Amino acid sequence: MRPSEATCLGSATISRSFEVDAILEQDYSVYYQKIWDSALETVTREDASPPFFAGVDVGGTSIKIGIVDDQGLRVGYASFPTEDEKGVPYAIERMKNTLDSLVQEANLASGDIVAIGLGTPGTMDIPTGYIVNPPNLPGWRNYPIRDSLAKATGKPVVFANDAGAAAFGEFWIGSGTSHQSIVMLTLGTGVGGGIIIDGQSVDGENSHGSECGHIVVDTAPDARLCSCGLRGHLEAYASATALVKRCEESLKAGVKSQLGDRLQEKNKITALDIASAAEAGDQLAFGLVMETADYLALGIANFMHIIDPSALILGGAMNFGGPANELGNNFLERIRESTRKITLPIISKNVSIEFALLGGDAGYIGAAGLARESYLRRQ
Ligand SMILES: [Zn+2]
Repeated sequence: MRPSEATCLGSATISRSFEVDAILEQDYSVYYQKIWDSALETVTREDASPPFFAGVDVGGTSIKIGIVDDQGLRVGYASFPTEDEKGVPYAIERMKNTLDSLVQEANLASGDIVAIGLGTPGTMDIPTGYIVNPPNLPGWRNYPIRDSLAKATGKPVVFANDAGAAAFGEFWIGSGTSHQSIVMLTLGTGVGGGIIIDGQSVDGENSHGSECGHIVVDTAPDARLCSCGLRGHLEAYASATALVKRCEESLKAGVKSQLGDRLQEKNKITALDIASAAEAGDQLAFGLVMETADYLALGIANFMHIIDPSALILGGAMNFGGPANELGNNFLERIRESTRKITLPIISKNVSIEFALLGGDAGYIGAAGLARESYLRRQ
């Protein structure tokens, strides 16, 4: 069942991005966390349809927990700081206590929650339920996180990669609701991704089957270095970090831009500085945003040819204001055009390339959705 009408979003999830000058001063990742908070409405128990599922989305900065009904409608939500230095058992205790409070606040009984979905960053081992070595959570190595949460809560827990969970969230109640197969790229400090084919998340043999940011787009020996240590990966060209790097290189090479003053003033540039300058008509900044779209198209064309998906969804904070913003629309249109130029027409003609809808809610919603899938399979 595809409950496509279940979304109850404020549509301008990201468009506030350019309204708050103070945030423009901050580092992109900080900004990401700030606006990447929840935008979903919460409905009452009376308006919801059981059974209920909990979704947990573990991030480097915060852990988000939501309870949703059978249609993906949210009946409860909370988040708290990850504090990874306190270790996984501490986090699991907080997850359990938070979930208990949410159950109470939503007028549910503990037994109303039939399954929990848990999304964490990799590296991970999905079949055994271990979080292995996540770079953003140094205190969380080699821990049986799935079974520990199951023991603490007494519920079955489904374990997933965070980006895969976000893709499933969009597939379930976001941009992907009318599609059977989607590829989602999350554009932020890095480039993440998730692939859903015929309703199944592609996890792969080693739990890292949808590492969309690490596909090769440049084979030159001096190709850009990726955060993973290898060269030529999409993330090294199309992430917010890469955008800033390319901008700094152009400025150092003497290209004229209002960003030159900004770099001198602050000794650094952020992706938001570039977005603001592009919106103000700065040619270098606008060109860099369009170049980012062209790089993304290289990666997207590869996914198109391998998977032939019905939708390609762009999530993450680097959406240049999204559909509510002219720059966001230019960015999206350029991605569509550049992708069409290098993709077989039979594949590209009907594909839908769109921005994601769920913003920072996608992860825990998708985790809950995966728990629901697993629950339905067991019935
Ligand atoms: Zn890489």
